[in-house]
Amino acid sequence: MMHIFKPKQLQNDITQLFEHAGVSQQEAQQVAENLVLSNLSGHDSHGVGMAPRYMDAISEKRLVPGAKVTAHIDHGCLLGLNGQGGFGQVVGFEAMQRAFEKVRTEGACIMSLSNAHHLGRIGHFAEMAVAQGWISIHFVNVLSRPVVAAFQAGDGRFGTNPCCIGIPIGMQDLSLNKPFILDFATSAVAQGKMRVAHNLGLSAKPGLLIDENGLPTTRPSVVVKAQSNGKFGALLTFGEHKGSGLAIACELLGGALSGGGTWRKEANSARAVMNGMLSIVIDPKAMGQEDFFYPETQAFIDWLKQSPPEPGTPGLILAGEPERQARLERARGLEIDEATHNELKASALKVGATGLFQI
Ligand code: NAD
Repeated sequence: MMHIFKPKQLQNDITQLFEHAGVSQQEAQQVAENLVLSNLSGHDSHGVGMAPRYMDAISEKRLVPGAKVTAHIDHGCLLGLNGQGGFGQVVGFEAMQRAFEKVRTEGACIMSLSNAHHLGRIGHFAEMAVAQGWISIHFVNVLSRPVVAAFQAGDGRFGTNPCCIGIPIGMQDLSLNKPFILDFATSAVAQGKMRVAHNLGLSAKPGLLIDENGLPTTRPSVVVKAQSNGKFGALLTFGEHKGSGLAIACELLGGALSGGGTWRKEANSARAVMNGMLSIVIDPKAMGQEDFFYPETQAFIDWLKQSPPEPGTPGLILAGEPERQARLERARGLEIDEATHNELKASALKVGATGLFQI
Protein backbone atom coordinates (compact mmCIF):
# COMPACT_ATOMS: atom_id res chain seq x y z
CA MET A 1 0.00 0.00 0.00
CA MET A 2 1.23 3.48 -0.89
CA HIS A 3 0.68 6.69 1.09
CA ILE A 4 0.66 10.03 -0.74
CA PHE A 5 2.39 12.96 0.98
CA LYS A 6 2.78 16.56 -0.07
CA PRO A 7 6.55 17.14 -0.46
CA LYS A 8 6.35 20.12 1.93
CA GLN A 9 4.73 18.05 4.70
CA LEU A 10 7.38 15.35 4.37
CA GLN A 11 10.10 17.98 4.49
CA ASN A 12 8.63 19.54 7.65
CA ASP A 13 8.13 16.16 9.36
CA ILE A 14 11.65 14.95 8.54
CA THR A 15 13.05 18.28 9.81
CA GLN A 16 11.18 17.83 13.10
CA LEU A 17 12.29 14.20 13.37
CA PHE A 18 15.96 15.23 13.20
CA GLU A 19 15.36 18.14 15.59
CA HIS A 20 14.13 15.59 18.16
CA ALA A 21 17.55 13.93 17.85
CA GLY A 22 19.24 17.20 18.77
CA VAL A 23 20.00 18.40 15.24
CA SER A 24 19.82 22.18 14.75
CA GLN A 25 16.79 23.48 12.85
CA GLN A 26 18.94 24.77 9.98
CA GLU A 27 20.85 21.52 9.55
CA ALA A 28 17.74 19.36 9.94
CA GLN A 29 16.01 21.41 7.25
CA GLN A 30 18.97 21.17 4.85
CA VAL A 31 19.07 17.37 5.17
CA ALA A 32 15.28 17.05 4.89
CA GLU A 33 15.21 19.20 1.73
CA ASN A 34 17.92 17.06 0.14
CA LEU A 35 16.16 13.77 0.99
CA VAL A 36 12.81 15.02 -0.35
CA LEU A 37 14.55 16.23 -3.54
CA SER A 38 15.85 12.67 -4.06
CA ASN A 39 12.29 11.36 -3.83
CA LEU A 40 11.13 14.10 -6.19
CA SER A 41 13.93 13.13 -8.60
CA GLY A 42 12.65 9.54 -8.71
CA HIS A 43 15.32 8.06 -6.42
CA ASP A 44 13.31 6.82 -3.43
CA SER A 45 16.28 4.65 -2.42
CA HIS A 46 18.08 7.87 -1.40
CA GLY A 47 15.07 9.80 -0.14
CA VAL A 48 13.22 10.13 3.16
CA GLY A 49 13.41 6.35 3.68
CA MET A 50 17.03 6.93 4.73
CA ALA A 51 15.98 9.13 7.69
CA PRO A 52 15.43 6.26 10.22
CA ARG A 53 18.89 4.94 9.36
CA TYR A 54 20.39 8.41 9.90
CA MET A 55 18.61 8.58 13.28
CA ASP A 56 20.18 5.23 14.24
CA ALA A 57 23.59 6.45 13.04
CA ILE A 58 23.23 9.51 15.33
CA SER A 59 22.48 7.12 18.25
CA GLU A 60 25.59 5.12 17.30
CA LYS A 61 27.52 8.44 17.51
CA ARG A 62 29.04 7.80 14.08
CA LEU A 63 26.90 10.48 12.43
CA VAL A 64 27.82 13.74 14.12
CA PRO A 65 25.28 16.57 13.70
CA GLY A 66 26.89 20.01 13.63
CA ALA A 67 30.29 18.65 12.51
CA LYS A 68 32.43 21.20 10.70
CA VAL A 69 34.49 20.41 7.61
CA THR A 70 38.25 20.73 8.17
CA ALA A 71 40.94 21.19 5.49
CA HIS A 72 44.33 19.46 5.64
CA ILE A 73 45.32 20.55 2.11
CA ASP A 74 44.45 23.93 0.62
CA HIS A 75 46.84 25.15 -2.04
CA GLY A 76 46.65 25.87 -5.74
CA CYS A 77 43.69 23.98 -7.15
CA LEU A 78 43.95 21.26 -4.48
CA LEU A 79 41.62 20.87 -1.55
CA GLY A 80 41.80 17.98 0.95
CA LEU A 81 38.79 18.01 3.28
CA ASN A 82 37.48 15.93 6.18
CA GLY A 83 33.73 15.89 6.87
CA GLN A 84 34.29 14.84 10.53
CA GLY A 85 31.34 12.42 10.38
CA GLY A 86 28.82 15.16 9.61
CA PHE A 87 25.63 14.77 7.57
CA GLY A 88 26.79 14.18 3.96
CA GLN A 89 24.10 16.56 2.74
CA VAL A 90 25.65 19.33 4.87
CA VAL A 91 29.40 18.65 4.70
CA GLY A 92 29.12 17.61 1.03
CA PHE A 93 27.39 20.92 0.24
CA GLU A 94 30.04 22.87 2.15
CA ALA A 95 32.84 20.90 0.44
CA MET A 96 31.40 21.78 -2.97
CA GLN A 97 31.11 25.46 -2.00
CA ARG A 98 34.77 25.45 -0.98
CA ALA A 99 35.69 23.76 -4.27
CA PHE A 100 33.74 26.50 -6.10
CA GLU A 101 35.85 29.22 -4.42
CA LYS A 102 38.92 27.47 -5.87
CA VAL A 103 37.37 27.21 -9.33
CA ARG A 104 36.74 30.97 -9.28
CA THR A 105 40.42 31.70 -8.66
CA GLU A 106 42.18 28.65 -10.19
CA GLY A 107 39.80 27.64 -12.99
CA ALA A 108 39.47 24.11 -11.60
CA CYS A 109 39.55 22.22 -8.34
CA ILE A 110 40.51 18.72 -7.33
CA MET A 111 38.75 18.16 -4.04
CA SER A 112 38.74 15.11 -1.80
CA LEU A 113 36.31 14.66 1.05
CA SER A 114 36.77 11.93 3.65
CA ASN A 115 34.66 10.90 6.59
CA ALA A 116 31.31 12.24 5.37
CA HIS A 117 28.21 10.40 6.52
CA HIS A 118 26.01 9.24 3.61
CA LEU A 119 26.23 11.83 0.79
CA GLY A 120 22.87 10.74 -0.62
CA ARG A 121 22.27 11.26 -4.33
CA ILE A 122 25.64 12.32 -5.80
CA GLY A 123 23.86 14.01 -8.72
CA HIS A 124 22.91 16.86 -6.34
CA PHE A 125 26.57 17.92 -6.27
CA ALA A 126 26.90 17.76 -10.05
CA GLU A 127 23.72 19.87 -10.32
CA MET A 128 25.34 22.48 -8.06
CA ALA A 129 28.32 22.66 -10.46
CA VAL A 130 26.34 22.80 -13.72
CA ALA A 131 24.23 25.60 -12.23
CA GLN A 132 27.50 27.61 -12.33
CA GLY A 133 28.17 26.47 -15.91
CA TRP A 134 30.88 24.04 -14.74
CA ILE A 135 31.73 20.38 -15.31
CA SER A 136 32.09 18.03 -12.35
CA ILE A 137 33.22 14.42 -11.95
CA HIS A 138 32.79 12.42 -8.74
CA PHE A 139 34.14 9.06 -7.60
CA VAL A 140 32.67 7.79 -4.33
CA ASN A 141 33.31 4.82 -2.04
CA VAL A 142 30.86 3.49 0.52
CA LEU A 143 31.91 2.26 3.97
CA SER A 144 28.90 0.27 5.09
CA ARG A 145 28.71 -3.37 4.03
CA PRO A 146 30.72 -5.28 1.38
CA VAL A 147 27.65 -6.05 -0.70
CA VAL A 148 29.15 -5.97 -4.22
CA ALA A 149 31.47 -8.53 -5.85
CA ALA A 150 34.13 -7.66 -8.46
CA PHE A 151 33.91 -9.31 -11.89
CA GLN A 152 34.59 -13.07 -11.59
CA ALA A 153 35.04 -12.81 -7.81
CA GLY A 154 33.04 -15.08 -5.52
CA ASP A 155 32.01 -12.76 -2.69
CA GLY A 156 31.21 -9.11 -1.87
CA ARG A 157 34.21 -6.91 -1.09
CA PHE A 158 33.00 -3.31 -1.50
CA GLY A 159 29.88 -1.15 -1.60
CA THR A 160 27.67 0.23 -4.38
CA ASN A 161 30.33 2.91 -5.12
CA PRO A 162 28.59 5.61 -7.18
CA CYS A 163 30.16 7.56 -10.03
CA CYS A 164 28.77 10.82 -11.39
CA ILE A 165 29.57 13.21 -14.27
CA GLY A 166 27.75 16.52 -14.79
CA ILE A 167 28.20 18.55 -17.99
CA PRO A 168 26.33 21.76 -18.87
CA ILE A 169 24.73 21.57 -22.32
CA GLY A 170 24.54 24.84 -24.26
CA MET A 171 24.41 27.82 -21.94
CA GLN A 172 22.75 30.85 -23.38
CA ASP A 173 20.64 31.10 -20.26
CA LEU A 174 21.61 29.19 -17.10
CA SER A 175 17.99 28.84 -16.00
CA LEU A 176 17.15 27.03 -19.25
CA ASN A 177 20.17 24.72 -19.17
CA LYS A 178 19.28 21.03 -19.47
CA PRO A 179 22.52 19.46 -18.29
CA PHE A 180 23.84 15.96 -18.78
CA ILE A 181 23.86 14.40 -15.29
CA LEU A 182 25.11 10.82 -15.35
CA ASP A 183 24.82 9.51 -11.81
CA PHE A 184 24.73 5.83 -10.97
CA ALA A 185 25.74 3.11 -8.51
CA THR A 186 28.34 0.75 -10.00
CA SER A 187 26.35 -2.29 -8.78
CA ALA A 188 24.07 -3.69 -11.51
CA VAL A 189 21.07 -3.08 -9.27
CA ALA A 190 20.42 -1.30 -5.98
CA GLN A 191 20.52 -3.32 -2.77
CA GLY A 192 17.20 -1.68 -1.77
CA LYS A 193 15.50 -3.10 -4.86
CA MET A 194 16.59 -6.61 -3.85
CA ARG A 195 15.11 -6.08 -0.36
CA VAL A 196 11.78 -5.11 -1.93
CA ALA A 197 11.86 -8.14 -4.28
CA HIS A 198 12.66 -10.41 -1.32
CA ASN A 199 9.75 -8.96 0.72
CA LEU A 200 7.38 -9.54 -2.21
CA GLY A 201 8.66 -13.09 -2.83
CA LEU A 202 9.88 -12.15 -6.34
CA SER A 203 12.94 -13.45 -8.23
CA ALA A 204 15.70 -11.17 -9.49
CA LYS A 205 16.66 -11.04 -13.16
CA PRO A 206 19.54 -13.40 -14.03
CA GLY A 207 23.01 -11.80 -14.01
CA LEU A 208 22.53 -9.54 -10.98
CA LEU A 209 23.46 -11.75 -8.02
CA ILE A 210 25.75 -14.47 -6.75
CA ASP A 211 24.86 -16.63 -3.75
CA GLU A 212 26.79 -17.35 -0.53
CA ASN A 213 28.92 -19.90 -2.44
CA GLY A 214 29.74 -17.48 -5.26
CA LEU A 215 27.36 -19.13 -7.74
CA PRO A 216 24.87 -17.22 -9.97
CA THR A 217 21.39 -16.97 -8.43
CA THR A 218 18.09 -15.14 -8.89
CA ARG A 219 17.20 -15.34 -5.14
CA PRO A 220 17.26 -11.77 -3.74
CA SER A 221 17.34 -13.15 -0.17
CA VAL A 222 21.10 -13.82 -0.57
CA VAL A 223 21.86 -10.11 -0.06
CA VAL A 224 19.10 -9.55 2.52
CA LYS A 225 19.88 -12.15 5.19
CA ALA A 226 22.77 -14.42 6.13
CA GLN A 227 22.45 -17.81 4.40
CA SER A 228 22.80 -21.32 5.87
CA ASN A 229 26.62 -21.07 6.05
CA GLY A 230 26.32 -17.73 7.86
CA LYS A 231 27.49 -15.80 4.79
CA PHE A 232 25.75 -13.36 2.45
CA GLY A 233 25.73 -13.52 -1.33
CA ALA A 234 26.55 -10.37 -3.31
CA LEU A 235 25.35 -8.00 -6.03
CA LEU A 236 27.36 -7.99 -9.26
CA THR A 237 28.70 -4.80 -10.80
CA PHE A 238 27.19 -3.53 -14.07
CA GLY A 239 29.02 -4.12 -17.36
CA GLU A 240 31.17 -7.11 -16.42
CA HIS A 241 34.91 -6.19 -16.21
CA LYS A 242 34.25 -2.54 -17.19
CA GLY A 243 31.79 -1.70 -14.43
CA SER A 244 33.85 -3.76 -12.01
CA GLY A 245 36.96 -1.73 -12.90
CA LEU A 246 35.06 1.53 -12.41
CA ALA A 247 33.77 0.34 -9.01
CA ILE A 248 37.33 -0.46 -7.93
CA ALA A 249 38.52 2.97 -9.18
CA CYS A 250 35.77 4.59 -7.05
CA GLU A 251 37.01 2.66 -4.00
CA LEU A 252 40.63 3.65 -4.60
CA LEU A 253 39.94 7.31 -5.41
CA GLY A 254 37.09 7.90 -2.94
CA GLY A 255 38.72 5.83 -0.17
CA ALA A 256 42.53 5.83 -0.51
CA LEU A 257 43.15 9.26 -2.06
CA SER A 258 40.72 11.03 0.29
CA GLY A 259 42.33 9.47 3.38
CA GLY A 260 38.96 8.10 4.51
CA GLY A 261 40.03 4.51 3.86
CA THR A 262 38.86 1.61 1.74
CA TRP A 263 36.56 -1.17 2.94
CA ARG A 264 38.64 -4.16 4.13
CA LYS A 265 36.55 -6.06 6.66
CA GLU A 266 33.57 -8.37 7.05
CA ALA A 267 30.02 -7.04 7.24
CA ASN A 268 28.96 -5.65 10.60
CA SER A 269 25.63 -4.43 11.96
CA ALA A 270 26.53 -0.70 12.14
CA ARG A 271 23.81 1.55 10.72
CA ALA A 272 26.10 4.43 9.75
CA VAL A 273 27.06 4.67 6.07
CA MET A 274 30.26 6.63 5.50
CA ASN A 275 31.33 7.99 2.11
CA GLY A 276 34.64 9.20 0.70
CA MET A 277 34.57 11.28 -2.47
CA LEU A 278 37.04 12.59 -5.01
CA SER A 279 35.54 15.46 -7.03
CA ILE A 280 37.02 17.31 -9.99
CA VAL A 281 35.35 20.59 -10.94
CA ILE A 282 36.33 22.38 -14.16
CA ASP A 283 35.30 25.78 -15.55
CA PRO A 284 35.29 25.36 -19.37
CA LYS A 285 36.02 29.09 -19.68
CA ALA A 286 39.31 28.58 -17.82
CA MET A 287 40.21 25.92 -20.42
CA GLY A 288 39.94 28.66 -23.06
CA GLN A 289 36.75 27.16 -24.47
CA GLU A 290 34.11 29.70 -23.48
CA ASP A 291 33.01 30.36 -27.07
CA PHE A 292 33.39 26.79 -28.29
CA PHE A 293 32.41 24.43 -25.45
CA TYR A 294 28.82 25.49 -24.76
CA PRO A 295 27.57 25.65 -28.39
CA GLU A 296 29.49 22.47 -29.20
CA THR A 297 27.85 20.50 -26.37
CA GLN A 298 24.44 21.68 -27.58
CA ALA A 299 25.26 20.84 -31.21
CA PHE A 300 26.31 17.31 -30.28
CA ILE A 301 23.15 16.67 -28.23
CA ASP A 302 21.01 18.04 -31.10
CA TRP A 303 22.77 15.64 -33.47
CA LEU A 304 22.32 12.75 -31.03
CA LYS A 305 18.61 13.51 -30.61
CA GLN A 306 18.05 13.15 -34.37
CA SER A 307 18.76 9.44 -34.03
CA PRO A 308 15.60 7.46 -34.86
CA PRO A 309 14.21 5.48 -31.89
CA GLU A 310 15.21 1.86 -31.72
CA PRO A 311 12.00 0.03 -32.68
CA GLY A 312 9.87 -0.75 -29.63
CA THR A 313 11.62 1.82 -27.44
CA PRO A 314 10.82 5.45 -26.60
CA GLY A 315 14.15 6.44 -28.20
CA LEU A 316 17.15 8.22 -26.77
CA ILE A 317 16.90 9.64 -23.26
CA LEU A 318 19.75 11.81 -22.04
CA ALA A 319 21.13 11.20 -18.53
CA GLY A 320 19.54 13.79 -16.26
CA GLU A 321 16.22 13.84 -18.16
CA PRO A 322 14.50 11.10 -16.11
CA GLU A 323 15.18 13.04 -12.89
CA ARG A 324 13.85 16.33 -14.36
CA GLN A 325 10.75 14.52 -15.65
CA ALA A 326 10.18 12.86 -12.26
CA ARG A 327 10.33 16.27 -10.53
CA LEU A 328 7.53 17.52 -12.77
CA GLU A 329 5.40 14.42 -12.21
CA ARG A 330 5.97 14.12 -8.45
CA ALA A 331 5.66 17.78 -7.43
CA ARG A 332 2.03 17.36 -6.34
CA GLY A 333 2.52 14.26 -4.20
CA LEU A 334 5.11 11.68 -3.20
CA GLU A 335 4.20 8.02 -2.81
CA ILE A 336 5.68 6.48 0.32
CA ASP A 337 5.42 2.69 0.63
CA GLU A 338 3.95 1.01 3.70
CA ALA A 339 7.27 -0.35 5.03
CA THR A 340 8.99 3.06 4.76
CA HIS A 341 5.99 4.78 6.36
CA ASN A 342 6.09 2.32 9.28
CA GLU A 343 9.84 2.83 9.71
CA LEU A 344 9.43 6.61 9.74
CA LYS A 345 6.65 6.40 12.37
CA ALA A 346 8.70 3.96 14.51
CA SER A 347 11.71 6.26 14.30
CA ALA A 348 9.58 9.23 15.43
CA LEU A 349 8.17 7.16 18.31
CA LYS A 350 11.67 6.22 19.50
CA VAL A 351 12.54 9.89 20.11
CA GLY A 352 9.09 10.82 21.44
CA ALA A 353 8.11 12.90 18.40
CA THR A 354 4.32 12.81 18.12
CA GLY A 355 2.01 13.77 15.27
CA LEU A 356 4.56 13.21 12.50
CA PHE A 357 3.96 11.39 9.19
CA GLN A 358 0.16 11.47 9.52
CA ILE A 359 -1.67 10.99 6.24
P1 NAD B 1 19.86 4.46 -12.04
O1 NAD B 1 20.17 3.04 -12.42
O2 NAD B 1 18.45 4.92 -11.98
O3 NAD B 1 20.67 5.37 -13.08
C1 NAD B 1 20.57 6.73 -12.95
C2 NAD B 1 21.34 7.42 -14.08
O4 NAD B 1 20.98 6.91 -15.35
C3 NAD B 1 20.95 8.88 -14.09
O5 NAD B 1 22.03 9.63 -14.57
C4 NAD B 1 19.77 8.88 -15.06
O6 NAD B 1 19.56 10.17 -15.62
C5 NAD B 1 20.25 7.90 -16.09
N1 NAD B 1 19.17 7.19 -16.78
C6 NAD B 1 18.12 6.53 -16.21
N2 NAD B 1 17.35 5.96 -17.16
C7 NAD B 1 17.94 6.25 -18.36
C8 NAD B 1 17.61 5.93 -19.71
N3 NAD B 1 16.55 5.19 -20.03
N4 NAD B 1 18.42 6.41 -20.68
C9 NAD B 1 19.51 7.16 -20.37
N5 NAD B 1 19.87 7.49 -19.10
C10 NAD B 1 19.08 7.03 -18.12
O7 NAD B 1 20.53 4.88 -10.66
P2 NAD B 1 21.21 3.98 -9.55
O8 NAD B 1 22.41 3.30 -10.07
O9 NAD B 1 20.16 3.12 -8.92
O10 NAD B 1 21.65 5.12 -8.50
C11 NAD B 1 20.64 5.90 -7.88
C12 NAD B 1 21.22 6.95 -6.99
O11 NAD B 1 21.87 6.35 -5.90
C13 NAD B 1 22.26 7.86 -7.62
O12 NAD B 1 21.84 9.18 -7.40
C14 NAD B 1 23.55 7.59 -6.85
O13 NAD B 1 24.37 8.75 -6.67
C15 NAD B 1 22.99 7.13 -5.54
N6 NAD B 1 23.93 6.30 -4.77
C16 NAD B 1 24.50 6.85 -3.65
C17 NAD B 1 25.34 6.08 -2.87
C18 NAD B 1 25.97 6.66 -1.63
O14 NAD B 1 26.61 5.91 -0.89
N7 NAD B 1 25.85 7.93 -1.36
C19 NAD B 1 25.61 4.75 -3.23
C20 NAD B 1 25.04 4.24 -4.38
C21 NAD B 1 24.17 5.01 -5.15
